Amino acid sequence: MALKIYDTLRRDKVTFEPRDPKHVRMYVCGPTVYDYAHIGNARPVVVFDVLYRLLKHIYEPQGAKITYVRNITDVDDKIIAASKETGEPIDAITRRTTDAFHADMKALGVLEPDAEPKATEHIAEMIALVKELLAKGHAYEAPGDAKGHVLFSVSSMADYGRLSRLDREALVAGARVEVAPYKKDPADFVLWKPSTPEQPGWKSPWGRGRPGWHIECSAMSEKFLGKSFDIHGGGQDLIFPHHENEIAQSTCVRGKDAFAKYWMHNGYLMAEGEKMSKSLGNFYTVHDLLREFPGEVIRFLLLKTHYRQPLDFTKRGLVSARAELDRFYTAVRIAKQNAEPCDVDPPEEIVIELGDDLDTPMAIRRLHDIASDLNNATAPETKIDRKRVAELAGKLVAGGRLLGLIQQDPEEWRRWKPEGIDGLTNAEIESLIERRAAARKAKDFKRADHIRDELLKKGIVLEDSAGNTTWRRQ
Ligand SMILES: [Zn+2]
Repeated sequence: MALKIYDTLRRDKVTFEPRDPKHVRMYVCGPTVYDYAHIGNARPVVVFDVLYRLLKHIYEPQGAKITYVRNITDVDDKIIAASKETGEPIDAITRRTTDAFHADMKALGVLEPDAEPKATEHIAEMIALVKELLAKGHAYEAPGDAKGHVLFSVSSMADYGRLSRLDREALVAGARVEVAPYKKDPADFVLWKPSTPEQPGWKSPWGRGRPGWHIECSAMSEKFLGKSFDIHGGGQDLIFPHHENEIAQSTCVRGKDAFAKYWMHNGYLMAEGEKMSKSLGNFYTVHDLLREFPGEVIRFLLLKTHYRQPLDFTKRGLVSARAELDRFYTAVRIAKQNAEPCDVDPPEEIVIELGDDLDTPMAIRRLHDIASDLNNATAPETKIDRKRVAELAGKLVAGGRLLGLIQQDPEEWRRWKPEGIDGLTNAEIESLIERRAAARKAKDFKRADHIRDELLKKGIVLEDSAGNTTWRRQ
């Protein structure tokens, strides 16, 4: 089937044709790890997860390999600032927030990418790329006091600005560059900059320093996907300057047709009708939302709006998203009382909707249609056709799978309760489980059993397997 996607570069919906039909390659800009991911950070991760699932569905049966790369930016001025503010060492911040990001995205049902390179592990590749840009005359070292800075020279590139299509004035204003007298042109951007002794830094031909943000993605995408690949994705806010500058860096050294063939961007996200901000109380982190709602509800709400549209994320929306998911799970649960769902391929009508520039709202409508058919097939006083029930329930689950939805056991889904309903936060439960593990290690089984029993009294069930303990609220 033909997959159509909206390409930001061409400003048009186009038919996707991979450069190599045997290897489909996608790069999406990942998080800068200095704080919990907010819901706006989660949107591209969930959107491109659906695209990843769809690419696998379409191309794997044709014998193609799909490689999806999503980086981690673990060297950045925001991380340095966070460390300065709290006193927490940089590597502790990046490790902790990377772990939190992974846990949050897992709770949102996001598949792991095929590679997740960290910027700090690819400094050599970045330095090599900067050297090539210098050698080709697309970059220059700042003189005098500004020594140690290497800048990209936008005037060295005839068609700089072709992704964002901004005029010269907007390019300069939008670059939000601080007054930097060492820049030949105000729109020039940093490839490498010097670090003070207390800042993270690496040895380079220009002295001890660190990379600019844009060069990270140019270097890491090339390392994991090659000089040319298919799709580059991210939030709309990255079009300029980040993606514009990635194009500048990569095509100036690898050729005009190199780098990403298609550019996809998701729309902006607001919360409760306004731009998210901590002072307005509408700054939702995934971590906090997960105490109140199952991750699948958050994912579902993100997918109910088409990815290119602006999305107003509200608590009311979460409540109705939960009710919609209840409808799906109830349909599957009742079906299961009659027949086990068949293991089938995702229904064609859902593949077609998603293949039309990832039309998730329409795909969800198709899921509702299937759920209606299933409800009719299991309605009271209906003569149950077990085969049909099994097929419809299978279709619903398989269709949900392409969207990363309806994959839980319906009973498990029913049991979900918000954090704290039993008087314990998840962190408190986990700390009790750690204490129980320590007691067991010390062969204090009486104490270990006591902790387990006390948790059970509050409706928290521990399950031990292969040396690991998982838990759930009853
Ligand atoms: Zn990037």
